[in-house]
Order: sequence, then C-alpha cells, then structure tokens
Amino acid sequence: MKFSTKAIHVGQEPDPTTGAIITPIYQTSTYVQEELGKHKGYEYARTGNPTRTALEQCLASLENAKYGLCFSTGLGATNTVMNLLSQGDHVVVGEDVYGGTYRIFDKVYKRYGIEFTFIDSTDVKNTEKALRPNTKMIWMETPTNPLLRLADIEEHVKLGRAKKVITVVDNTFASPYFQRPLDLGIDVVVHSTTKYLGGHSDVVGGAILTSRDDLYENLKFHQNAVGATPGPFDSWLVMRGLKTLAVRMKEHQKNAMTIAEMLEKHDAIERVYYPGLPSHPQHELAKKQMLGFGGMLSVIVKGGAQNAKNFLHATKLFSLAESLGGVESLIGHPATMTHASIPQKDREARGIGDDLVRLSVGIEDIDDLLADLHNALKVVSLGVLSK
Ligand SMILES: *Cc1c(COP(=O)(O)O)cnc(C)c1O
Repeated sequence: MKFSTKAIHVGQEPDPTTGAIITPIYQTSTYVQEELGKHKGYEYARTGNPTRTALEQCLASLENAKYGLCFSTGLGATNTVMNLLSQGDHVVVGEDVYGGTYRIFDKVYKRYGIEFTFIDSTDVKNTEKALRPNTKMIWMETPTNPLLRLADIEEHVKLGRAKKVITVVDNTFASPYFQRPLDLGIDVVVHSTTKYLGGHSDVVGGAILTSRDDLYENLKFHQNAVGATPGPFDSWLVMRGLKTLAVRMKEHQKNAMTIAEMLEKHDAIERVYYPGLPSHPQHELAKKQMLGFGGMLSVIVKGGAQNAKNFLHATKLFSLAESLGGVESLIGHPATMTHASIPQKDREARGIGDDLVRLSVGIEDIDDLLADLHNALKVVSLGVLSK
C-alpha cells in the first residue's frame, strides 16, 4: 500500500459491531472481563484503548515502523524515550533542538544524573567528538526549529551502529510524508503530533515509532508505567488529521517554496532559511535524505529586532502564535516565544537572534498569503527608511 492509502486505512477496519467506517471514540476507562484474566486485549485505558491502537498502527505504517506508541504530548513522547536511560548515561544532542526538548534535558533529566552534550549536529564529526564511554543516545532534530538546519541521518546511523548508541530523530518538522528516518536506519523516531500529523491546530499529542523489538518492549512498559497517554478523542482527532496528511503536505510545501523565493528577493529581508532553496547550505543533503522540504521557513529581517517585531505585528492572515503545522498560517518570534526557555547568551550563540522571524506556511490560497506578506513588509521597509 502507498502512503496516502495507508494514512486512510491502516488500523482502521470498519467497526465489527456496527459497520461504522470510522473508528469509534472508545470513551471508556475500563473493559469488562468474561472471567478472571479472560478479555479481548483491553483491561484498563491507560494501558490500551482501541482508538489509540488504531492511531498507533496507522502512524507506524506511515513511518515504515514495526511499532507505534502514542502520547498525550510530544514532550510526553520525548520523556518516555528518556526513560530508556539510567543515571550516569550520556546523551549527545543537537544544540538547536526544540526549546521544550532542551528544557526537559537540561532542567529535568540532568537532575536525575543523565549527562548531555549539546553540539552542532550539521557535522557528524561534532557528534563523534562528543561521544564518551557512557554515551547511550544520539538525539537529533532534522530539520531543526527554527533555523532549518539538517543533520546527516545516514552518517549518524553509521556512527551510532559502530558505537552501539541508540539514534533518535525528532521528525516533527518534515513529517513522515517528507522524511522517513527509520528507512535510513535510525532506531527511534519521535513526533509532536500536535503539528503536521494532527494538522488542524485542535489537538496536542506525541508519538514514538521504532522497529526494534527490544526498544519497543522497554518503551511500551514506560508508556504504561509513566502514563502520559492520550485520551481516545485526542487519538481520534490525530487519526482524522492523518487522512489528509499527504494532500496537506504537498500544499504546505508548494506555498512555502513560493514564499521562500519571494522573501529571498525582498529588500526588507536579510536572509531566508528554507531547505528547498539552492542558497540553503545543506540543500543537497535535503534533496538526498528528504522527500520534500516542508512548510516551515525562517527569515532574518533587515534592520534588527524592532523591524522583526513590526513585521510580525503587521501580518493579518499569518497569525501571531506558538506552534506550527496547521492548515492556517502562523508567524512567530522564536527568541521570545518557542525558544524563550533558552538563556539569551546560548540562544544567540545558536543563531536565534531577536531579528529572526519564523513562518509556518499554511494551505490558504497563495495569492492571499503573498499579499499579506507584501503588505506587512511595506511597514517594515518604511521603518528601515525612517532610521
Ligand atoms: C512542538 C514540538 C515538540 C513538543 O511537542 P508538544 O506536543 O508541544 O509537547 C517537540 N519537537 C518539536 C520539533 C516540536 O515542534
């Protein structure tokens, strides 16, 4: 079965009791047992729920994974991946991971005696140099948020295998439609399903995908033991989103490409970060390991922080909001929004300055989106002139 078909059908047989074509929302906390120990595979809803099972199977099929596990949030999924580790273990992490990922590593798991080294994972040599005898995991985001930097997945797989280190990719930005890290040999994929997978800005969720039996058993144990599981309605909403993932991603990418090209030529813009542009320093790698370039881009606005703020206050269709990956276009200021939890010095060292603006390009009509950005940038250009 091909991607779009799997997104609509896997895990979602018509309901055996009624024939309902859509998997029901099994809004129940417990399941009746025929006699002690004899049940239909479900005992208690933290451990398992049929709506969640359908979503887990569908997501697994989209990432070409043997197993899928779903969570109440993306960070709930991240937390459960960290439960694979023990005190004294060491993790090598890309330095520009999602702010909340940085925060759970630096502010939570460090206190439990897990060590982290944050490196620039655009060059696998940095990862290799950071490895120690107690390194158990390499954690990458590719493309990263908000600078759209790439880590070479195949190079990291080689390194991870040679050193017997678990490799993890947060695949939220690309979605399985545009990138399948497990196919390239990665051990574990993590998602915030809140973003492209849900796709309609109406649900928060997370997922872990793997094909390794040993890791799955361990992760499944912790999914139940720690308990950050999604409710049936949230699972259902993500599953409903998945059905249109392929058509949405194509539109996100088409709009993002057109906007990236327009902004790159615009007088008020200093620089555009989008892996689909030939000017992106890793454009060739993007073409090699991704199946498309996605709907996220960031820009440096000329003239500094005030101009960046003027720009994001002046757009009308692009709404000022956290998050990304929904059908509606969003605009954000990483320094004070998504990445505010990173200390200013570290943040600026990572290239996330006050003049950086991030766009989550939605699937509205491209003419309206272009007009909105042109109008907003007029305000900025005036600001530049009046300085
Ligand atoms: C949003 C996000 C997360 C965290 O997911 P939540 O659903 O907000 O908990 C993790 N990684 C990336 C890349 C994200 O964008």
